[in-house]
Amino acid sequence: MWICDNLSISKEGRLTFAGRDAVSLAEKYGTPLMLLDEGRIRRRCREYKKAMEESFGGGSMPLYASKALCFKEIYRIMRDENMGIDVVSPGELYTAKEAGFPLENAYFHGNCKTDEDIRLGVSEKIGCFICDNIEEITALNEEAGRQGRKQKVLLRLTPGIDPHTHAAISTGKVDSKFGVAIETGQAKDFVKLALSLPNIRLAGFHCHIGSQIFEYKPFVDAAEIMFKFIAEMKTEFGYETEELNLGGGMGVRYVESQPTIDYSANIAGIGKTLSEMSGRLGVKMPKILMEPGRSIVADSGMTLYGVGGVKRIPGFKNYVSIDGGMTDNPRYALYQSEYTVLLANRPTEKADGEYTVAGRCCESGDLIQENVPLPSPKRGDILAVLTTGAYNYSMASHYNRIPKPPIVLLSEDGGEKLAVRRETFEDMARNEL
Ligand SMILES: *Cc1c(COP(=O)(O)O)cnc(C)c1O
Repeated sequence: MWICDNLSISKEGRLTFAGRDAVSLAEKYGTPLMLLDEGRIRRRCREYKKAMEESFGGGSMPLYASKALCFKEIYRIMRDENMGIDVVSPGELYTAKEAGFPLENAYFHGNCKTDEDIRLGVSEKIGCFICDNIEEITALNEEAGRQGRKQKVLLRLTPGIDPHTHAAISTGKVDSKFGVAIETGQAKDFVKLALSLPNIRLAGFHCHIGSQIFEYKPFVDAAEIMFKFIAEMKTEFGYETEELNLGGGMGVRYVESQPTIDYSANIAGIGKTLSEMSGRLGVKMPKILMEPGRSIVADSGMTLYGVGGVKRIPGFKNYVSIDGGMTDNPRYALYQSEYTVLLANRPTEKADGEYTVAGRCCESGDLIQENVPLPSPKRGDILAVLTTGAYNYSMASHYNRIPKPPIVLLSEDGGEKLAVRRETFEDMARNEL
């Protein structure tokens, strides 16, 4: 009945999440409220680690893509679970460091690292830079030289794959703002340059083909192109690749019509093809890295909102308005993302019609979902949006001066922890003189 196995119904007929009564949590912490099932996040990390070690061999590991959900406690969880991380900005790097995450296990992404970012990354001894372009690696070489370091790097390449997801979240094609194309021959020049720079240690290559990918075939297709490139670099420069990073992008089930994904089976499928490929192409199996973001946190998150009212427009549609919206979840406004929506205080009542869930911003596009079946919602109900762990809080804004919601972690042993306080108006106006 439920899209995710951490949901259930209490004796009182209310929605439970990670074994806790959602309505009581909403009463205790107020709405909007973001809940995270910490046990599930940890189990997913372990699943990735185990599957990758078994399927790809020792040294292979998952790097949590921080951009999916970034706050201090998530980095402590990643540290405890011996995950690597990827960061894409000095702000993420700072947060990871403040949380005590060992930066030697961090990979630094980004297509426009400034001189200041590069200086910071080198001085913080970040494990690896993922270099996006020639200007960056040139600047990095100089900075590493100034700081007397030899910096490990991967080169970000575009394998020319279209994984058939939404255009805004597809990045592996030749026409992409990220990385250097293999197809055009520019990647080869990038390698030649990297190998010539005295303060750079080239460890290998990176590609990221997109997001919300349900099968493993696109990863295998990307890996095939990358393996061929690795073979070519060996022939051309005698260069032996140590690490191949296949990026993130494994899908998550948001609505019933989507499949449940078996991450271990997907990884095993990729692993099997990689060993076959490495034999066929005469390439020594590199360490394989992956960068799951969404699939680590999305289905461990849930957002609770208070219902403000319902507007029925005869002959058109019904709107149910909530006390949050695009400021805490801009994904529907950005790319019509699908979500499952229900009422936490009466989740089993039969729907009487379809309702469009509208946020509180002065923006007609501020919707969370359109035409979802709900049982006659009314002011005072608690509306739950499921699977909000990824790209919600991390994409939140202060539009209309709406403070960001708090995050409460629900641990496996029944504990609960306020990990991020609700923002105040003072917080938002803090830098204003
Ligand atoms: C966004 C991104 C990820 C994470 O993607 P998910 O779909 O959340 O797994 C990983 N690596 C790179 C380079 C990204 O841009």
